[in-house]
Amino acid sequence: MQKHVIIIGGGAAGFFAAINIAEQNPDLKVAILERGKEGLGKVKVSGGGRCNVTHAEFIPQELILNYPRGEKELLGPFHQFMTGDTIEWFEKRGVELKVEEDGRMFPVSNSSQTIIDCFLNEAKKHQVEVFYNHSVKSISNQNKIFQIETSNGDFFSEKVLIATGNNPKIWNLLQDFGHSISKPVPSLFTFNIKDERIKDIPGVVAKDVDVKVLETSLWSEGPLLITHWGMSAPSILKLSAFGALELAKRDYKFQIEVNFIKLPFEECLEVLKTLKQDLAKKTVFKTTQFELPKRLWHKLVFASNMNEDSRWADLNKLQLENLASQLTQAIFNVDGKSTFKEEFVTAGGVNLKEINFKTFESKYVKNLYFAGEVLNIDAVTGGFNFQNAWTGAYIVSQNISK
Ligand SMILES: Cc1cc2nc3c(=O)[nH]c(=O)nc-3n(C[C@H](O)[C@H](O)[C@H](O)COP(=O)(O)OP(=O)(O)OC[C@H]3O[C@@H](n4cnc5c(N)ncnc54)[C@H](O)[C@@H]3O)c2cc1C
Repeated sequence: MQKHVIIIGGGAAGFFAAINIAEQNPDLKVAILERGKEGLGKVKVSGGGRCNVTHAEFIPQELILNYPRGEKELLGPFHQFMTGDTIEWFEKRGVELKVEEDGRMFPVSNSSQTIIDCFLNEAKKHQVEVFYNHSVKSISNQNKIFQIETSNGDFFSEKVLIATGNNPKIWNLLQDFGHSISKPVPSLFTFNIKDERIKDIPGVVAKDVDVKVLETSLWSEGPLLITHWGMSAPSILKLSAFGALELAKRDYKFQIEVNFIKLPFEECLEVLKTLKQDLAKKTVFKTTQFELPKRLWHKLVFASNMNEDSRWADLNKLQLENLASQLTQAIFNVDGKSTFKEEFVTAGGVNLKEINFKTFESKYVKNLYFAGEVLNIDAVTGGFNFQNAWTGAYIVSQNISK
């Protein structure tokens, strides 16, 4: 079958590109080849079924800081199409987005199905053909025409967009075109930690902490959630993203130092000494400080060699130091990782040096384009991964439809 444009992969980037190409140039025959019996599988499950479409960050220089891989390369593209454009794009097509306190943006319906319905309607309206159950097996290029072999027949086209996400088979095929692949490793995961200080208190949140990975330069800040298995929430997920390669090398066994109150040890010790005077007759256990959740305070108090009856006045120098240390430099052993169910991505993919980021076209093969997670681009949690897919796909669409 002959088409003007073939898009391999009916996910976020594939649909977004196809719709925009077909809308911008109705003369082009655009087809999506999707291996599944349905497309948009990740959109469906994204953001816990709510689809965190993008993030309310409107300054390109700030936006790029959320991409451990792709930061430099995305600056130019974000000047062409970014978060504000995404909001407008969906609004124009009847999908209103709302912002949550932390900047994440979702459809007001709180359902990813709204995004899927929008894409399916738009694809139909602009006559994008979607071939489901068409798994791409090989891609070749002869006399400027791509030949694409699928599990259900061959396709020919002048232009091809690869939007297959993190599929190792496609990465292997791309190596035949001279492209190199940065080794894929997981990103956005939570840390497994077995430790008395966080045992039996799942759901407890420290609102703003500093976390360092010892023996590395990795650190982050933000909320920390104690889970059944260890620790999660943005402070941890950011480390998992920025440290994806480093932590994989360590086989996910390393130590972290948590500062639960974001004060230096010495300053904390001074505060505790004042409390020793001011709260002399009260028990440490019952006088939670630093706006910490009570259950966490109790755990840290016990870890500092005190019991439920220890009074502030009775604390000796060592106990005060122990408590200051637990509050500001608590060391935890991480042993393994768990999936963060709301969002995960793969760090790795087509090497960014091989892509022209003005067009998202291959520097090696003319008319071969890339968008989304197939590239070695990924972000922290919060809607940034989809924004990468929308931006790349939109820029591809502008170039292909010309
Ligand atoms: C559980 C989960 C929740 C997430 N939540 C969010 C979120 O809320 N916000 C956010 O920003 N990001 C989220 N992400 C990340 C986001 O889903 C991805 O970054 C995004 O989907 C990447 O888009 P893509 O089009 O590149 O790849 P995908 O969406 O993965 O699409 C690739 C498509 O290509 C198809 N394909 C692969 N190989 C072939 C082949 N050989 N032949 C034909 N078709 C093929 C696949 O079947 C798939 O449909 C989440 C990820 C997961 C796993």
